[in-house]
Amino acid sequence: MKPDRPRPAQWPAGFWEALQNSQWLSDTPAWTGHAHWTLGLPEAHWQLALLSTWALWEKEPHAPRRLHLLAHTEHPPSADDWASLAVDWPAFGPLAAECAQACWGLLPGLHRLVLAQGRLQLSLWVGSSLARDAWWRSTPHQTWGQPPNPTGPASTMVRQQVFLPPSRHKQESAWPARASARPVHGSAQPILDGSQPLMEPAPPRSQTAPPILVLGSGLAGASAARALAERGFRVRVLDAGTAPAQGASGLPVGLMTPHVSGDDNPLSRLTRAGLRMVLAHAQAHLRVSEDWSPSGLLERRMSGKARRGRWPEAWLSPHPSDTWALIDAAQDWFTPASAAQHHAAGLPAPEQSQAEEPKGIWHLQAGWMKPAALVASLLNHPLIEWHGQTTATHMHAQGQSWWVHDQQGRAHEGQQVVVALGPSSAELLQKLLPQAHWPLEPLRGQVTGGVMPGPESNQMPSHPVNGLGSFLPGVPMPDGPTWWYGSTYDHSRSEPVCLSQDQDSNLSQLAILLPLLADTWHPGEAKGVGLQHQGVDTPHAGEAYPTTLDASLRNWAGVRCTTHDRLPVVGPLEGAPGVHVLTALGSRGITLGLLCAEVLASQICGEPLPIDPAVAHLLRPHRFKKSNKSLI
Ligand SMILES: Cc1cc2nc3c(=O)[nH]c(=O)nc-3n(C[C@H](O)[C@H](O)[C@H](O)COP(=O)(O)OP(=O)(O)OC[C@H]3O[C@@H](n4cnc5c(N)ncnc54)[C@H](O)[C@@H]3O)c2cc1C
Repeated sequence: MKPDRPRPAQWPAGFWEALQNSQWLSDTPAWTGHAHWTLGLPEAHWQLALLSTWALWEKEPHAPRRLHLLAHTEHPPSADDWASLAVDWPAFGPLAAECAQACWGLLPGLHRLVLAQGRLQLSLWVGSSLARDAWWRSTPHQTWGQPPNPTGPASTMVRQQVFLPPSRHKQESAWPARASARPVHGSAQPILDGSQPLMEPAPPRSQTAPPILVLGSGLAGASAARALAERGFRVRVLDAGTAPAQGASGLPVGLMTPHVSGDDNPLSRLTRAGLRMVLAHAQAHLRVSEDWSPSGLLERRMSGKARRGRWPEAWLSPHPSDTWALIDAAQDWFTPASAAQHHAAGLPAPEQSQAEEPKGIWHLQAGWMKPAALVASLLNHPLIEWHGQTTATHMHAQGQSWWVHDQQGRAHEGQQVVVALGPSSAELLQKLLPQAHWPLEPLRGQVTGGVMPGPESNQMPSHPVNGLGSFLPGVPMPDGPTWWYGSTYDHSRSEPVCLSQDQDSNLSQLAILLPLLADTWHPGEAKGVGLQHQGVDTPHAGEAYPTTLDASLRNWAGVRCTTHDRLPVVGPLEGAPGVHVLTALGSRGITLGLLCAEVLASQICGEPLPIDPAVAHLLRPHRFKKSNKSLI
């Protein structure tokens, strides 16, 4: 099938020929019958290659439902770059505008940009590094074409791996010709997880194949179910609760914000990638100011907080050649907080010299989210079935299937299983693989909140503040706008009980975080009951809220699932093929849930990962090993 588009005069030399030579323009496109197709774009003109491919893919009746494009560039594209392309090729104008919208905050590293309502995914690596080369090499893809003199080791390596011997087109145009017809697996000895399909999943849309079973319907399970349903799988979600999100994800409201570290460590990179994903989902599916708010956030860098890292120095004084692009990209995420932003939080602007680390950071891509609303929106998909009051007790493999048994004596068949049970995951996994070591730690926490005070407390921040716990003002609840502060960290209990001592601790920490507010506002004393509730330890098992220790306050407690390295656990279970784990989202389930699910679904389907494969490797479930024992 040939495109009917007239050839614009301005195509770069050889571009049109390369486009025509590509698989998907032939009479029987190689991608026919594939649900998903991955194409690596040339480094030169990658933006134009993206736009033309996208436009042609939209017209092609047999095109795969999901198209994945890989690209790498030294310099992140600016909105102006996309606008100039739209001027030169007006037909691509709307597509270029969508790209311009998606291309923000492109710091060095891998970014997953979602286009065309999620049907088109762009994995874009900004900057060059050995990690970039390893990613390009180990990510299976077809190759779109290469510029006449490929520059950079990645292009050369890919060419060696994926090109067939030169075709006749080689002489006619300076461009290398067709990619091989079969998907090519990059490195013969993959050193990184996730680039190969783990197993051939049953045809997603088959009505006869058993569904994929997802155990748990908190942020982890709901995100996994959604990521798999988006790929065409039927998914059955089993949960012990009477409704979804009754574990830690029943948190009334939580913060979503990036982590900042001087070396831009994996957790920092994960949180930025996760935020990009959850913000896109929220914009498309949730009610702004009701279910979530992209309010921005002031992070106070409190002295004595050991975990507070520095900003990566390179972002403040980058190499001259990429100064502006890097500063622009960093400033899409955060800037030193201004005096006005401090005042809006009822805080004096800190005095500091130019040379110092900022004492306050303004996070632009941050805000609050009601996790239960997020979970509900994730589960709202025609291929997802939710079954409540189904407590999984154990599972076994039989033939091609897995059978999950529940407390009521029923057995549920699945072609694959995703374990996303939060702190209960360890028990089920231990039964499945008794030899294995699962250092998943329950970590109880409690938040305290109340109705927003009247005008007497004029120091009330207009946006969230964190730095010593988090304060979230103006969160709408059925009884009006509320504030929330949290949370506590308690390793000694694994039950979601509300404790008066935690309420005390929350209120005293709040007074340190917002000292001026504490001068004029005394939550908990409004009805004369103050904080004198020692000993009133009210158990509750994951009720939404409130569990009230004080008539004027509300408290909520839940149990997180954590690991000692503070990273999530995501990936296939060795020793139980077809079983996958997604848990240990710690205190960052809102920010990380969707991203981790995307990692998992990409691993299951052999698609490019949304994060650097080296970082995905750090999340694998079998990273915990007991010494001298043969364990996972
Ligand atoms: C006090 C507190 C404050 C927090 N604040 C924030 C915040 O500001 N920002 C943020 O991003 N994160 C925050 N978190 C963390 C966030 O809530 C978690 O990371 C997230 O909810 C974890 O989701 P999950 O799906 O892994 O676990 P859960 O939400 O606990 O889900 C597990 C599910 O498994 C089900 N289940 C358990 N056992 C079984 C079984 N045997 N069979 C079937 N179903 C079962 C449960 O019913 C539950 O639905 C906070 C957590 C707490 C406790």
